Amino acid sequence: MASVTLDSVSVRYPSGASGLVGIDLTIADGEFVALVGPSGSGKTTLLRTIAGFLTPTSGAVRIGDRTVAGDAQFVPPEQRELGMVFQQHAVWPHWNVGRNVEYPLRRAGVPRDQRKTRVAEALDLVGLAGYEKRDPATLSGGQRQRVALARALVARPRVLLLDEALSALDEPLRDRLRLELQTLTRELGLTVVHVTHDRAEALALADRVVVLDGGRIQQVGAPDELVTRPASGFVARFLSDATLVDGVLSDAGFQADGHPLSVPRDTSMPAAGRATAAILPAAVTVTPSDAGDAVVRSSLYTPDGGDAVIDWAGVTLRARTRGIRLAVGQTVRVDVDRVVVYPAESLDAAASAAPTLVSA
Ligand code: ADP
Ligand code: MG
Repeated sequence: MASVTLDSVSVRYPSGASGLVGIDLTIADGEFVALVGPSGSGKTTLLRTIAGFLTPTSGAVRIGDRTVAGDAQFVPPEQRELGMVFQQHAVWPHWNVGRNVEYPLRRAGVPRDQRKTRVAEALDLVGLAGYEKRDPATLSGGQRQRVALARALVARPRVLLLDEALSALDEPLRDRLRLELQTLTRELGLTVVHVTHDRAEALALADRVVVLDGGRIQQVGAPDELVTRPASGFVARFLSDATLVDGVLSDAGFQADGHPLSVPRDTSMPAAGRATAAILPAAVTVTPSDAGDAVVRSSLYTPDGGDAVIDWAGVTLRARTRGIRLAVGQTVRVDVDRVVVYPAESLDAAASAAPTLVSA
């Protein structure tokens, strides 16, 4: 087990495309970190840089106390003691399950009798005890991902890297593997870096979530922190479907431009000036009312809190409904309990915004 540190890591592709820009990140020994961000934000680049398939253009990567890239060092991937699982093509179809799982041990020169025991242990860990002789073609997608996981774990890696490892699976299998992955990695005390485009999965599994955009870290924090205190409008929108509204912040509070939204000042708000408010769906209360000034555009019901899209004086608002069933076209009243306010310019400069509520 080991920590992973990225120290000012930038990666530029030979094409000139920028993959990562000045990444500073320390993943603690035994921590489960999820990387999320839109397509092209640098998630795979970051994972491949840790793995050693990409070399930083500048900066350094450390695994434990060993520098594996940068400072004139380079440790090749197979010597970094990592396990990796990808979304697809994870299992070699022409080898049986046992031989697939055994591969990293053969490469490392582990003697045959030990290999056999270790393969059996790894298969047992992922719930596939006794599957050594099976042909991968006879397995389900979920079982094949379990084989890939067993192969990633068999050499007892110091860090487990997962790139969309569950993304190709259908529910409810995906949900079950999520739970199993958590149990397994927590029991082994593994350091995990899990790349996913699935926000809910990241928030559900990780000790900390890293939000990337444009090759830069937008925010790092515990799931509840990212959801309740997003550092920028981008994070609020990306992780929580917040609605962003421009307006003016005064000593009294936030007033949206040409819109009824008005929220009294609280201590989290920056200095007076042009500002953007992020309205988190969970901070919106929707009440059916014929006297309301908003209309339901869509509403997906679930017993413990569905999602609705509301037209409210020209703003399309995402709201979390709490067990109430709303009809499309229904007139409602909207109450916004609180907003997270950012200086207006932080939206334009979202890519470089500091993860704090700075005064304008
Ligand atoms: P993600 O995994 O978040 O979708 P990537 O890490 O794949 O993002 O990509 C980050 C950026 O690097 C994107 O702008 C992408 O176009 C670029 N990129 C990724 N792979 C390559 C490559 N092999 N050659 C050139 N540019 C690349
Ligand atoms: Mg990717």
